[in-house]
Amino acid sequence: MKVLIENLKTNNLKVTPQRLTIYNYLYHNHIHPSAETIYNNIKEQNPTISLATVYKTLKSLKDSGLVQEINVGEDSFRYDVQITPHYHIICNKCNKIVDYFPQTNLLETIKDIISNETKFELTSSQMYFYGTCEECSKK
Ligand SMILES: [Zn+2]
Ligand SMILES: [Zn+2]
Repeated sequence: MKVLIENLKTNNLKVTPQRLTIYNYLYHNHIHPSAETIYNNIKEQNPTISLATVYKTLKSLKDSGLVQEINVGEDSFRYDVQITPHYHIICNKCNKIVDYFPQTNLLETIKDIISNETKFELTSSQMYFYGTCEECSKK
């Protein structure tokens, strides 16, 4: 909890119980949950938090760079507390999202090529891979 409070403070976010609850949930559940999933999992212990609060809190956490928003082509976004650059591998059948942290500087290489050729100053990137996970392919 101490780390989380420090993180909020260093990112100029006021430490509120709502922020702490939602950030804490994300910090301990690397399942890339949607706002609805977060809400359903915390509402029992936090009856005062509404779904609207969850959305609002996620936005402030995202704006301050503490979580990243993932668009997997569903109706809702999913959220990830891991802000180190990594790729997302998404199962088409169960919608599970798995993290892949590249061992090489592949991402940097791709960014260099793109920024050289487009003259863009790149600030962020997202990379998604789609397929069938091991469990689903066994079914
Ligand atoms: Zn699957
Ligand atoms: Zn991730």
